[in-house]
Amino acid sequence: MARKPQSRGKCAYCGKEYSKAGMTRHLKTCAARQKAIAKANKRRGRDITIYHLQVLDATPPYTPFHQMWSPNFWLHLEMKGNATLYDLDQYLRAIWLECCGHLSGFEIGPVFYTQIFDDGMGWREERSMNVRVDKLFRPGMTIPYQYDFGTTSEVIIKVLGERRGKPITSHPIELMARNNMPQVACQVCGEPATELCSECLWGYEEPYLFCEKHAEEHEHDDMLMPILNSPRTGLCAYLGPDEPPY
Ligand SMILES: [Zn+2]
Ligand SMILES: [Zn+2]
Ligand SMILES: [Zn+2]
Ligand SMILES: [Zn+2]
Repeated sequence: MARKPQSRGKCAYCGKEYSKAGMTRHLKTCAARQKAIAKANKRRGRDITIYHLQVLDATPPYTPFHQMWSPNFWLHLEMKGNATLYDLDQYLRAIWLECCGHLSGFEIGPVFYTQIFDDGMGWREERSMNVRVDKLFRPGMTIPYQYDFGTTSEVIIKVLGERRGKPITSHPIELMARNNMPQVACQVCGEPATELCSECLWGYEEPYLFCEKHAEEHEHDDMLMPILNSPRTGLCAYLGPDEPPY
């Protein structure tokens, strides 16, 4: 079987496109990024620790669509050490996940950092996600994150590296790169699909991917959902937006 081409994405600093693996290498040496860092480091004030995070989708294979869809999604973020897990949670919700205000959490070692927690009484140790990440993050760490404990979206956060200096952005997090919108074809005509039918998708019935025209003609018109640049496409009631919060 032919190897599936890796999803590509654009570097926010130089605008060039790279594959998923290529982007990890590129961001370490991107001249435009080095220039932005050098400029930021000239500002006055105290140096802080800033983390390079790679965020990867790990949605369970709920349907054949999700199995095929999930490897397309990745982000590279730069995050201030004095920002909190709560800031990262808000960011992931905005760009990828938020549908109906479900609970979420980060698993770091034996501790689960979440919104509603019982300290030490449950089956695992739970704490507030209102904690600075420089108290927790170390390069090399892999952190599982979950959004919605029903139809769960699973995400892996890798701490690829850290630098001491000044952040480029005034926000807690900066988007350095993300995958391009993946393309899927209408299963009726082969044109680009823009909607899916969640009734047919979860019933393992084809066709479930439609262009605008064939979505209009489909019998389950109240079960149609948009296809978005998000691994939560087709899960729960996800309608986007698939945009970063800042
Ligand atoms: Zn670049
Ligand atoms: Zn939901
Ligand atoms: Zn069509
Ligand atoms: Zn349908």
